[in-house]
Amino acid sequence: MKPIYMDHHATTPLDPRVLEIMLPYLQEHFGNPSSSTHIYGEIAKKAVEAAREQVVQLLNAQNPAEIIFTSCATESNNMVLKGAVALSKVENPEIITIATEHKAILDTLKRLNRQGVVTRLAKIDKYGIVDLDSIKEMINDRTILITIQAANSEIGTLQPLRSIGQIAKEHNIPFHTDAVQALGKIKVDVEKDHIDFLSISAHKMYGPKGVGALYLRKGHRIAPLLDGGGQERGVRSGTLNVPGIIGLGKAAEIAGSDLTGEADRVRQLRDMLINGVLERIDQTTLNGHPTLRLPNNANLSFSYIEGESLILACKAFAVSTGSACSSETLKSSYVLKAIGVPDSLAHSSIRFGLGKSNTKEDITLLLDTLEKNVKRLRDMSPLYEMAQQGIDVDKFEWGEHKH
Ligand code: PLP
Repeated sequence: MKPIYMDHHATTPLDPRVLEIMLPYLQEHFGNPSSSTHIYGEIAKKAVEAAREQVVQLLNAQNPAEIIFTSCATESNNMVLKGAVALSKVENPEIITIATEHKAILDTLKRLNRQGVVTRLAKIDKYGIVDLDSIKEMINDRTILITIQAANSEIGTLQPLRSIGQIAKEHNIPFHTDAVQALGKIKVDVEKDHIDFLSISAHKMYGPKGVGALYLRKGHRIAPLLDGGGQERGVRSGTLNVPGIIGLGKAAEIAGSDLTGEADRVRQLRDMLINGVLERIDQTTLNGHPTLRLPNNANLSFSYIEGESLILACKAFAVSTGSACSSETLKSSYVLKAIGVPDSLAHSSIRFGLGKSNTKEDITLLLDTLEKNVKRLRDMSPLYEMAQQGIDVDKFEWGEHKH
């Protein structure tokens, strides 16, 4: 039997309604939307424009021309950062961000740093929430962009988008948010939240993989990453992934309409899981904020146990220790490190990403499984034994070893 899927931050299954609407565009409606001389192109173009409108609705954007389709959110993030720098006339331009961003932001910035761009990391608290005063203090004449995610993929922490957007607006600095994990779970409104650029990924909201979008507020410009056929108003050349875009549009429509009911249902499951673990298993801690977190995220540390060992022991569940891209190495999570979680607890953490398929029964089974296996592993754990003898395991040397 397949394990129960609880890794919805890594990716989500395709909603059957999304698949259904995509299929004809993988078959008979194969036209290129840029072909304006015949019906094949027209059909594809009409469907792409309908999908654009669905994304507009989800974000409360004002104009379909503000939506640029891309191949993924990694591309959207790269486009904004590199595209803003390329057009900037400022010497050593500065970009304000936080240390818990996704690697698609942090590694892009690292590359830009080699070209003289300066990354300014605003302070975050122990939950990962940005300090607004720290942002204000960092703003200066060379600040060209503020990029702060809507929600964190490991610890689920939600950022105060509206306040950040307000600060950016007051200082006339464009504000980008990576909203990949937030869309479909919490309301993100580019108008009310004063967002100028926003990154989207379809596969995190029950859409297909390999398609994303960038919201680009009217009046703002970025240099394109790709030169070519000039599609997407010249900002993103390349023949459009029509079935993917149509899937993204439908996923956006469903994400918007499911928002309150499904988010409330999953929030209850999340709280059942968090409270169940904290009450039933001693020496466990919640990483991230108790309430200002994604309704589907629980990140818990089980002291004296390696997260990887606990995951192996709980085979009936598909969960992970952190972000999909970094969980192949046994390095402790940079996100947990950034919020000050000690190495020992970071190594003992598991991320639970709940989703539409999960039920109350799943959580009941998960709690029983965790309780049983934590006890079993602790009974075998040298760390637990050391701790029982009064040895401070936080001083224990943790290696950065690979599998
Ligand atoms: N941003 C965040 C916050 C993510 O969680 C992810 C995926 O894990 C990405 C960006 C990258 O998205 P994509 O897979 O569409 O490139």
